[in-house]
Amino acid sequence: MLVPREQASGERRVAATPETVRRLHSHGLQLQVEEGAGLASGYLDHDYREAGAEVVPTGSLPWDEVDGVLCLNPPAPEALNRLRPGALLVGLLSPYGAHELVQILCERQTASVALELLPRISRAQSMDVLSSQANIAGYKAVLMGAAALDRYVPMLMTAAGTIQPARVLVLGAGVAGLQAVATARRLGGVVYVSDVRPAVKEQVESLGGRFLDPPEIDDRPAEVGGYAKEASEAFLAAQRQQLAEQLALADIVICTAQVPGKAAPRLISEAMLDGMRPGSVVVDLAVAQGGNCFGTVPGETVERKGVLLIGADALPASVPNHASALYARNVAALVEHLCGEGDWKLDPADPILDGCLLTLEGVCRRPDVVAPTVPSNGANR
Ligand code: NAD
Repeated sequence: MLVPREQASGERRVAATPETVRRLHSHGLQLQVEEGAGLASGYLDHDYREAGAEVVPTGSLPWDEVDGVLCLNPPAPEALNRLRPGALLVGLLSPYGAHELVQILCERQTASVALELLPRISRAQSMDVLSSQANIAGYKAVLMGAAALDRYVPMLMTAAGTIQPARVLVLGAGVAGLQAVATARRLGGVVYVSDVRPAVKEQVESLGGRFLDPPEIDDRPAEVGGYAKEASEAFLAAQRQQLAEQLALADIVICTAQVPGKAAPRLISEAMLDGMRPGSVVVDLAVAQGGNCFGTVPGETVERKGVLLIGADALPASVPNHASALYARNVAALVEHLCGEGDWKLDPADPILDGCLLTLEGVCRRPDVVAPTVPSNGANR
């Protein structure tokens, strides 16, 4: 299997580490790792070789010979066009609206697994890259917010008097949001949390956060398989009204509210930003899906009337060593599951593969997600 060096700008992670090379080697799989593939995340060619991988120069990657490719982001079309029929591509393939990619994969008869579509079932927990990476994003978002804030986060009693703890508002209590709550609490902040799923109240409270009950209106978004459905405009208007008061008191706001395959709910309007304290900080993790907050721009920090708006679209890549270690373990668990006698076990009826097997034998198995619904990564205005 080939592990190429990631080409996307700002991507510092790698899809296999020396630990997972060793692990997959013990299942009889040979890994070929592009030279320097792990350098940006702290994994050296020498360590890959020691673990049993072949380190291949960039100019001679054997795309046309390998049985599979492990990646973070989809490789370039020129590389995919060299894959032989039946090869398996595993990665975060950004399947929503990915017509061109899917067309190439079908033409090449490449089997592909889009890890963002892996079902959230207990059996697939060890393979769940969305969770391992969202956890990192939630942690790092709080650190970024704290670093940019003009105040302390913890309460301090000093000879010069007492400093009150910072107030942190977390929007969305999925994996990233819950890690943001835990991290902000460890720093000593007072944490408030909004989510449309009342089921998360207990989890928020167990981490020391205070849950803001969703507005009591009739068309509260339904929950399907643990995910919130898209909220109606009437619900969002009621939610924004509730949040306006909280925003005026907040020092740090961490935005993580998302609905899979849809634009992120707009929870902070321009008028609500006007009510925020100059010096406060908004970190928008949903920025690539259109953002929870007005005015955030992917990858940029914008100052608006003294409020810092951080468009945090690639946080896992900013903690590349651990992000790669966890991602690579998730991927290794999946590859072990798919490893058959001399061939891949790609049974569409397998509950783990059901949903995330994007293409198989020239057929797109998820035309529903390939239809574009999520806004592209433009400025969020
Ligand atoms: P996500 O990134 O899709 O969404 C983040 C959060 O945003 C969710 O909690 C969602 O309810 C919330 N949200 C949506 N609209 C909102 C709005 N208008 N206002 C406020 N919040 C809003 O979520 P995720 O982190 O991927 O987790 C989704 C679910 O999957 C959770 O129930 C989680 O517990 C579950 N999960 C299960 C497993 C497993 O069983 N293997 C693993 C990880 C996560």
